[in-house]
Amino acid sequence: DRVCLVMPKSPAAVVGILAALKAGAVYVPLDPASPAPRLAQMIASCQPRIVLAAPQTTALVAACRSAENIGPRFAVVGMDGPLSARLESAAVEPWDHAVEPGEVPPGAAYILFTSGSTGQPKGVVITHANVIAYIEWAVRYFGLDASDRLSGHPPLHFDLSMFDLFGAFAAGAELHLVSPDLNLRPHALAEFIRNHELTQWFSVPSVLNYLAKFDAVRFHDFPSLKRLLWCGEVLPTPVLIHWMTRLVGVQFTNLYGPTEATIASSYHTLTTCPQDGRMSIPIGRPCDGEDLLVLDDALRPAPVGEAGHLYIGGVGLSPGYWRDPAKTAAVFLPHPDHPPGDARVYRTGDLARVGDDGLVYFLGRADTQIKSRGYRIELGEIEAALAALSSVREAAVVAIHSEGFEGSVICCAYVPASGGDLTPMTLRTALGRVLPSYMLPGRWRAFAALPKNGNGKIDRPFLRESFLRGADDRMPAAWASHVEAA
Ligand code: AMP
Repeated sequence: DRVCLVMPKSPAAVVGILAALKAGAVYVPLDPASPAPRLAQMIASCQPRIVLAAPQTTALVAACRSAENIGPRFAVVGMDGPLSARLESAAVEPWDHAVEPGEVPPGAAYILFTSGSTGQPKGVVITHANVIAYIEWAVRYFGLDASDRLSGHPPLHFDLSMFDLFGAFAAGAELHLVSPDLNLRPHALAEFIRNHELTQWFSVPSVLNYLAKFDAVRFHDFPSLKRLLWCGEVLPTPVLIHWMTRLVGVQFTNLYGPTEATIASSYHTLTTCPQDGRMSIPIGRPCDGEDLLVLDDALRPAPVGEAGHLYIGGVGLSPGYWRDPAKTAAVFLPHPDHPPGDARVYRTGDLARVGDDGLVYFLGRADTQIKSRGYRIELGEIEAALAALSSVREAAVVAIHSEGFEGSVICCAYVPASGGDLTPMTLRTALGRVLPSYMLPGRWRAFAALPKNGNGKIDRPFLRESFLRGADDRMPAAWASHVEAA
C-alpha cells in the first residue's frame, strides 16, 4: 500500500512517516503548498490506501478528491498531533486500473515526486536499501552520534530531509525541525541555530546565501556547530568564504546528488578557506558504494579536464520512476563498465569535468531543468501548464540568473490568444491554480509573436538576453516588431 502525507512539516508528520513504514507501506510525502489539481495528479498516480492530513490540510485533501475524479477511493486519517489521529473518511470504491503488486519495486520505502518536463510530475521510487546505504555512510563519515542536534530545514517532500530524519534516528540524535516561516527572516533563522545549539546545519545553498546577504551570522557565531553541509545547487564561492571566515573550526561539506540517486552521491569537505571567490568548489568524490562517471556522447570516459555528461552508479540508484517504464528506460541505462544486465547508471542531465586533482567539478545542466529557491523545476512543466490555458496562444519560459534568494528567476514570454488582453497578473493567477508558487514566473512579457530562429524554433537565447537586459528598446531591431507590451 501507499500512504500519502499531505501535512506541513511537524512531529505529527514524522510520526506519520514512521507509522507508514512500520505498516510496511510506501510513504509519499506531498507538498501541502501545491494547488489541489497538481496534488490530485500525484495522488491518482500512486493510488494510496490512506492519505494522512493535518487540521490545516483536510480541506485541501477534500479538494483533491473532486479533482481528477478520485472520489472516495482513499481513506483520510486526520493527525491532530503526534499522538492523536482520527479516521475522517473511509474508502468506499476501488481504484480503476489498480496498481499491480509487481509494479511496486521490491523494498520500496518512499516515492518523491519531482517536476516533469512534459507537465506531469514524476515519482522517484526509493528503497530501504538505498536510504540505509547513504545513511550508514553519512553517520560514519560525519561521525554523527547521540550528542548531535541536527537541523531539519528542507520540507519533507524534498529528499534532503531524509538525511536529517533517518540520520537523526540512526545516530539517536535530536532533530530540530525548522519552520518554513523562518526562511525569509534571516536574523530569526540565525537565532534558531544559536538557541537550539545545533551541531549540524544542512540546507540548500539559497538559505546560506540569504543569511550571508543580510549579514545574520557573527564572527565565531554558533559555538555548538560542528558541521555545515549543503546540497542541491552550487554555493557561490564568495558566500562560502563569508561563512568560513566567520565560523572557523566548523567542517564545511558540499554534497551533490539528484533525488534519483538518494540524497547525495558525492561529497567534498574543504580543508582550507578558498582564497579567491572565482575558485570552483568541486562536488568531489563518490560516497561509499557510489560511482560517479563523466562520459562523452559514446559513453566513454571524458578526458581529464574536458566536459562530459555526469552519470551515477551504485547503491543509491532508484529502481526507477513510479509506473513509468519508458521514462525509467530513458535515463537509467546499462553500466558501460559492467556485463549486460549486471549494473545500471543514471544519466543526471548534469555536465561535469574531472579535475587534475581527480575530483569531479559540476559545470551546469544539459537541459532546461533549473533550481529556484532550492526547488527542482522543469521549465517544460510550466510551459505545459501555459499551453493548457485558452487565454494564451503561445508561450515560452526561460530562466535567468539572479543574485537574490531564488538563484534563478523564471521569465515568461507569451502571446495572448487573438483579441485577448492578457495581463501578467491574470496569467499568474491562472497558473497559480495549477502550479505551486515557487514555479510561477517572476517576470513577464507579452509579444505579438514569439521570436523564432532560422529553424523555426523559439529563440530562447534571445528571450533570455531580452529578459536580462530588461528594456525592450535595446532589443535588436529585427525583433522590435514582435514586442507588443512589457
Ligand atoms: P534534486 O533531485 O532536487 O536533488 O536535484 C538534483 C540536481 O540538483 C542535480 O542533478 C544538480 O543539477 C543539482 N545539484 C545537486 N547538488 C548539487 C551541488 N552540490 N552542486 C551543484 N548542483 C547540485
